[in-house]
Amino acid sequence: MSAVPRHIVIAGAGQAGGRAAEALRARGFQGMVTMLGDEPHPPYERPQLSKDMLGIADTPVTYIKLASDWSNVLDVRLETGAPVTDCDAARRTVATADGRVYAFDRLLIATGTRPRRLTLLENLGIDVQYLRNVEDALRFRKSIRDKSRIVIVGGGVIGLEAACAAAKHGCSVTVIESEPRLLARALPSLVSDIVATKHRSHGVEFVFGVTVSGGTSRSVRLSSGAEIQADLVLIGIGVEPVPTVAERLGLPVTAGIAVDACGRTAAPDVFCAGDAALQWSRCHGRTIRVETWANAQNQAIAVAGNMIGEQNEYLDPPWFWTDQYDLNIQVAGDMLDSEHVLRGEPASGRFSVIAMRGAHLVGALSVNAAKDMAMLRRLLAANKRPARADLESPSFDLRTALK
Ligand SMILES: Cc1cc2nc3c(=O)[nH]c(=O)nc-3n(C[C@H](O)[C@H](O)[C@H](O)COP(=O)(O)OP(=O)(O)OC[C@H]3O[C@@H](n4cnc5c(N)ncnc54)[C@H](O)[C@@H]3O)c2cc1C
Repeated sequence: MSAVPRHIVIAGAGQAGGRAAEALRARGFQGMVTMLGDEPHPPYERPQLSKDMLGIADTPVTYIKLASDWSNVLDVRLETGAPVTDCDAARRTVATADGRVYAFDRLLIATGTRPRRLTLLENLGIDVQYLRNVEDALRFRKSIRDKSRIVIVGGGVIGLEAACAAAKHGCSVTVIESEPRLLARALPSLVSDIVATKHRSHGVEFVFGVTVSGGTSRSVRLSSGAEIQADLVLIGIGVEPVPTVAERLGLPVTAGIAVDACGRTAAPDVFCAGDAALQWSRCHGRTIRVETWANAQNQAIAVAGNMIGEQNEYLDPPWFWTDQYDLNIQVAGDMLDSEHVLRGEPASGRFSVIAMRGAHLVGALSVNAAKDMAMLRRLLAANKRPARADLESPSFDLRTALK
């Protein structure tokens, strides 16, 4: 890696890109920073898109910083509406769609992910929507205010938060999920059932174990042969890494863009952070992409430091939250393929589930128990091995296990 960089280019002006740019200045980097984003907006955080912005009030988007502050306060050159379409690894340049070319000493790929599409519903005349950016949220908000009949494909976090918002607006909502239960990739079945019961109490219907096989301009057809009438279909079937920049640099994009613990890719002086990065997770025992707010912020900050010569290994256990009705659910680490220890009483509406593999703590989940989760995250990060009997006793102070 060449000594002190003079010009850092950040491809992608989302959460990770924005937090990296801020961190470069906070750490005293005085060279040029250019951030190239394809959206017409300065960086913003996406959790608001499926929460505050879909509420009853007309909540506007909140930006990490106003466009003018990037240049005036942080001296960051922010180009919006500027997709990176080409890269030259040997000459160390990237080019945007309008033909402008930017030279870099270090490049950060922070281009995130994009929704997986369900193309078989497109071009049938039915309103097919996704929920990834500000424009998507504004469009979906308008639809749910019109009290549409909504089919949501995918019982994951995005689909369920959208279902919650639509139900609150009085829409008729049906969620189609190919697995036999909700949030099957992240939650134990006990919690899937609690979430489903909560949604049903707000009028949301579920169809499990089916996929979408087709439709018409007013309906969605399922693999079971059933047909559901709908004014719009929201697709929430996961995301895939945006490959353009990595591919143009000759980097393979499989499940993501492979990085080491410092966020370095296989290309010299090219780093990656956020949703796009395929990184090692001790809790999972394999490499994964971490599609969370916390990762987009904290990995980006650590990697920004590494671009200017620091050696920060970013190994935080993955953590995310979701808010649905009066349920705040937080998940850290890996809840699958493990034994579960229950802490607290589910009937009380406030409890945690702790995942262990042998003596190792590998995951934790809390339902309306944020204080527990704060300590469990620290235990996970410190790779502690607390005794099972202690964990399952709600009176045991988790802070003790940190010592
Ligand atoms: C609706 C929604 C709700 C969410 N809620 C939560 C939550 O409650 N809790 C949680 O932990 N996480 C949540 N997340 C996940 C979290 O927002 C993401 O993990 C985070 O946004 C990832 O940040 P990123 O910067 O890697 O990617 P992004 O925020 O997607 O930013 C990448 C940017 O790069 C741009 N880009 C792509 N290709 C190019 C190119 N070639 N040239 C230039 N720019 C390009 C993209 O358009 C985008 O603006 C939510 C996500 C969504 C969509």
